[in-house]
Amino acid sequence: MIDKHSRKISYLRVSVTDLCNLRCVYCMPPGGSELSERDEILSFEEILRIIKHGVTLGVNKIRLTGGEPLVRRGITTLIKQITDIDGINDIALTTNGVNLKEYAGTLKKSGLSRLNISLDTLRPDRFADITRGGNVQDVFDGVEEVLKVGFTGTKMNAVIMRGQNDDEILDFVRYILERNIELRFIELMASGWKNMVDADRFMPSSEIKERVQEIGELVPVNERVGGGPATIYRMKGALGTIGFISAVSKPFCSTCNRLRLTSDGKLRSCLLSGGEVDVRGLLRSSHLDEEELANELTKAFKKVTTMKPIVHSGKNKAVMNQIGG
Ligand code: SAM
Ligand code: SF4
Repeated sequence: MIDKHSRKISYLRVSVTDLCNLRCVYCMPPGGSELSERDEILSFEEILRIIKHGVTLGVNKIRLTGGEPLVRRGITTLIKQITDIDGINDIALTTNGVNLKEYAGTLKKSGLSRLNISLDTLRPDRFADITRGGNVQDVFDGVEEVLKVGFTGTKMNAVIMRGQNDDEILDFVRYILERNIELRFIELMASGWKNMVDADRFMPSSEIKERVQEIGELVPVNERVGGGPATIYRMKGALGTIGFISAVSKPFCSTCNRLRLTSDGKLRSCLLSGGEVDVRGLLRSSHLDEEELANELTKAFKKVTTMKPIVHSGKNKAVMNQIGG
């Protein structure tokens, strides 16, 4: 699939659930967001059907996200089934890390290629505030387990918010000095549930980078595991690397190769803008035979590919737990 701006689509991000065991302030309202009915969420068979169809159209890389993917029952079985699909050569997962201590070993055995762990603060009280009740020790334990069971290319994503955790930028850098992790600082995006762009707390990558350089020089890295939107640097003496994702200040849309599948079965062209096409309805339609379904799925993939904006506005709001950030 090549979109109208000559971008080759090969990457599908799949949100497997809209449920989560945390309630991060920028992602969910205090009482949790409105959840889909259980039967509105795609079954594993349906997810696999869509991925397999995507493969026939050039998809070769999958990322599982959510909500929190590790709260979906049987997730490691799904991962194993995806790794068994011919044509998929990379499957990664984005998690808040809370259940990783328990899951890291099974995830490794299931064939998962890599993990992204989201962590916005290293301080217990702050973690409880930002996530509305989480225990940061669970994430620390999870990270150590991930390294212990032999995952490589692990990334840690930290959303930096002025006045909330920007005083920890250097602590994050110190955290990866002795851990082989790619630390990525992420710009705060407009929050769907708050219905607003949080300009006061937004901090551009350029400013975050200046702070990082207070403790060491950054040398650009060219080669990296798994590709992606971050600009990566190495710091002398650090085992890990440091990346910056400037989705707001410098959108990387021109190299975007991804589509998204929401947990309730919509193919989506972009996290922030563009449009979506319902594929759950097609999968559940009783009057389509296998060949007709395949044709309709091809049409849906192609249609959503043509909807990809050349560049997102940066001001649109994403309901992250539903779309999968
Ligand atoms: N629950 C998993 C997690 O937290 O990693 C996966 C889903 S979560 C929606 C995916 C990513 O979106 C997380 O790294 C989170 O920090 C990010 N995210 C959510 N809302 C955001 C916002 N308003 N701005 C920037 N990143 C956001
Ligand atoms: Fe849950 Fe991830 Fe959203 Fe935090 S960012 S509330 S962990 S889905």
